[in-house]
Amino acid sequence: MKFFKDQYDVIIIGGALAGLASALTLSGKGMDVLVLEQHNLSGGLATSYVRNGFEMEATLHEMMSIGPREHPLKIRKFFDEMGVNITWLRVPEAYRVILPNSGIDVTVPAGFENVAQAVEARCPGQGEKVMKLLRLCQSVTDSVNIVSVTPMSKPMMLRKHPDLVRTAGYSAMEVLDAFGFSKEAIEILSPYWIYVGNPLSTLPFTVFAVLLADYFGSGSYICSGFSHEMSLAIAERAEELGTRIEYCQRVEKILVRDNRVYGVRTERGDEIHADYIISGAYPHTVYSSMIEPRSEVPEGAAKMLNGRKMSLTCFSVAMILDDTPEHLNIHSYSVFTGPTMETEEIWKQLQTLGPYEYLAVICLNMANPKAVPEGYTQLSITSLPRAEPWFEVKPGDYHEVKRKVAKQMIEEYSRVLGVNLLDHIVEIETETPMTVSRYTGAWNGGIYGFAHNQDDNIVARLAMQEEDKFISGLEFAGAHAISGNGMSPCITNGRKAAKNILDDMAAKEAGK
Ligand SMILES: Cc1cc2nc3c(=O)[nH]c(=O)nc-3n(C[C@H](O)[C@H](O)[C@H](O)COP(=O)(O)OP(=O)(O)OC[C@H]3O[C@@H](n4cnc5c(N)ncnc54)[C@H](O)[C@@H]3O)c2cc1C
Repeated sequence: MKFFKDQYDVIIIGGALAGLASALTLSGKGMDVLVLEQHNLSGGLATSYVRNGFEMEATLHEMMSIGPREHPLKIRKFFDEMGVNITWLRVPEAYRVILPNSGIDVTVPAGFENVAQAVEARCPGQGEKVMKLLRLCQSVTDSVNIVSVTPMSKPMMLRKHPDLVRTAGYSAMEVLDAFGFSKEAIEILSPYWIYVGNPLSTLPFTVFAVLLADYFGSGSYICSGFSHEMSLAIAERAEELGTRIEYCQRVEKILVRDNRVYGVRTERGDEIHADYIISGAYPHTVYSSMIEPRSEVPEGAAKMLNGRKMSLTCFSVAMILDDTPEHLNIHSYSVFTGPTMETEEIWKQLQTLGPYEYLAVICLNMANPKAVPEGYTQLSITSLPRAEPWFEVKPGDYHEVKRKVAKQMIEEYSRVLGVNLLDHIVEIETETPMTVSRYTGAWNGGIYGFAHNQDDNIVARLAMQEEDKFISGLEFAGAHAISGNGMSPCITNGRKAAKNILDDMAAKEAGK
């Protein structure tokens, strides 16, 4: 008997969050779905690993679009509707921002009014403007959520979504300036910018607005069983609904005939046929080495890729420390710290091999006390640099460079805490752009897909989605798709790829 069936409705390359969300959606509609994952477990970056008996989170700091049980946001709603069980833990505060050179040390709680109060307490007279800004962010976010799923004429957009239209052409900095915020207020409100990977001067306001409305509005969440809990729960439910997931199956080729996909070939040599393919692999990899025959690679695809810029990658140090957070002077779940909040200045540093001084620091215990045995602390220190400088590191120098950068970051945060963390490390793992690239195959070790800018952001991508389709039946789902950036958007991307296929099938059936 053959291992695979001859034909599936849909084959999904990669069993990470986006691919699994596609599988869940499609199998929920009765489609015959096969997921091929190159590793022996699901989740891609949404995973954890065990070192000397300690489970360590590989990536997740915080997830957006979850919301409380009684007011679920779109990702929690999706999981609830699909029967995916995840134990969500709310992160206690939005963040603490520590900028020693400006004398700023402010904890910002979630909730619009709380954010406004935190800014007002430090910068009198700014709180009311913060409320106005956050209401604008919410209005823009509501509009983005609608226009992402409901195509709309320009006059209708103008009538129904004036805030989105009014601000869409501006950068985050331009809008903050238009509100007349003080420098300090901007410093307190800005830290999340790094999670969308662009300095405020070039970050489209639309993207910043979604970030602030979501994180400040409902707070952020993590999974009690690490991000891998989520990956396993989606995979398990998709299988219950009929999806077949096969591990240790690397897809080498996507088979195309007359500009339409008809199957894949795996590294093992199996040729498996399907009407539709969803690729978790980056478009760069697909169009440069996976399409077979090469003559089927459309000219427009290369042009599209050349015209776009990859977003950031990561340099992250995860540690288990031998004492409690309290004894290590750690009192917050999420801290952003650095010598400055001038995002252009930080940006320049991110184009180098370090030292990286703007740090995002997560203490897992503070949201999930069971993340480590009593008496220990799980702490990660992350910077999000660009990948290019890392291409220049010679293989023989790699380990030394990696250790040097990790040590600089640990020393930097030790200074902030007034505690030498180097004396407390029980376990340590460092993720670099190379780690990400090797593990997921992501182009240039990307974690956020394409960079957002005025020509390439969710609004522009929605407008261009038909033009960016080059091969019939081929969809992309991952950080590199329309919503980009992070776990929740990847899940949205997976759903969107599935919806495109369902719409195409429905149109075919209707004879269009
Ligand atoms: C240190 C760090 C911290 C982060 N923190 C956060 C955070 O706090 N919040 C947040 O929202 N996001 C965070 N992210 C980003 C987030 O993890 C990613 O954006 C998201 O998980 C990417 O999901 P994805 O579906 O695109 O696939 P990926 O996780 O990139 O995985 C791709 C999958 O496809 C498989 N694959 C690729 N090619 C093939 C092939 N040819 N054949 C078979 N299988 C293949 C891979 O094995 C992998 O399983 C973080 C990332 C990092 C690195």
